[in-house]
Amino acid sequence: MRARDREILLKLNKEVLWLFVTGSVVVATLVVLFLLRTPPSYYEYNGFTLGTYCRIYVSSEKINSKSLAEMLFTELDRIYKKYNANDPESVLSKINVSQDWVDLDEETFVLLDAALKFSNMTEGAFDPTLGNLIHLWGFDRLDEQDVRVPDSSEIEVALLHTGYKNILLDRQKRRAKLLNGIHIDLGGIAKGYALDRVYQIAKEVDPDCTGFVEAGGDIRIIGPKFGSRPWVIGIRDPDDTNECVGYLYLDSGAVATSGDYERYFTVNGIRYHHILDPQIGYPARGIKSATVVASTAVTADALSTAAFVLGGKNWEYVVLDFPKSGGHVLLVDKDRNIRKSPSLSVYEADR
Ligand code: ADP
Ligand code: MG
Repeated sequence: MRARDREILLKLNKEVLWLFVTGSVVVATLVVLFLLRTPPSYYEYNGFTLGTYCRIYVSSEKINSKSLAEMLFTELDRIYKKYNANDPESVLSKINVSQDWVDLDEETFVLLDAALKFSNMTEGAFDPTLGNLIHLWGFDRLDEQDVRVPDSSEIEVALLHTGYKNILLDRQKRRAKLLNGIHIDLGGIAKGYALDRVYQIAKEVDPDCTGFVEAGGDIRIIGPKFGSRPWVIGIRDPDDTNECVGYLYLDSGAVATSGDYERYFTVNGIRYHHILDPQIGYPARGIKSATVVASTAVTADALSTAAFVLGGKNWEYVVLDFPKSGGHVLLVDKDRNIRKSPSLSVYEADR
């Protein structure tokens, strides 16, 4: 080999070695960066709407998480205002005062249709037409001074002006008519609907965003924690704010709890709360809290109210049959017994 050839070979070897060393350094740096990468940071927004405290906890790498949270809160508030039966200007009030057919926008039609679906499914245990009764008890006002135990004669009269079969929905003309002076109250479903809307909007803005949104104890998962882990949700002990009767692990879907501790007043040692048994017009007895896990918040919300009403009468039916409609139930009864759908175990195990 001539001296010139040897020189070229040496130079080539050096270049290969150089490439190898720099390549290794780059790969090692990327591995270290991957291992040290910061998890997405969450933005927390707290606000009062839908008659309760709401919390939005989101992270997006596509848009500013704070802007996203604010956008989502605006949507919660829009729905609250639209379906607030106490505001004479709301869409719901306009339906409630009309004696005749009222044309509905598509969103309102879909929501009323969904509410009636849950009424039929639960044979009226969930009933969106209890407005007159709820007003009589005072549970529609936020002021504690307005609540009272009505006379039984007043309840009898108010009961005549309730009943989900008194809502007529005309699918073709997209309109509704209320019979027998009923008033619609969507308190048992509006939060769930609002949480589902927030989920939809978040996913439209950034399909990869994660987090959850909470309204008065009802939770809609937007996406798994840090993109991969389930959120751990404590089911509150109805007798003790600081204790839990169980934990759920959710990376999608929703959970809602109806409890006798959410809104109540006590007279002569008897607790009167805001979830009414539509058959008798009095607070439903026998259950302290009903929790429902479902794929959507609207299902979880409506079925948790129905599970609360029916749980004191026939808990076996609730825990075994509700899963057929997509709701997995945990009931805490007045004696603190816990009754669960067997299908709930899927959500009780950490993954
Ligand atoms: P919370 O609002 O505490 O989460 P729920 O989801 O069970 O509890 O909703 C309770 C609200 O639903 C009441 O404040 C009232 O507006 C309305 N409501 C009460 N009883 C019923 C019922 N049997 N069916 C449907 N809605 C009801
Ligand atoms: Mg509910």
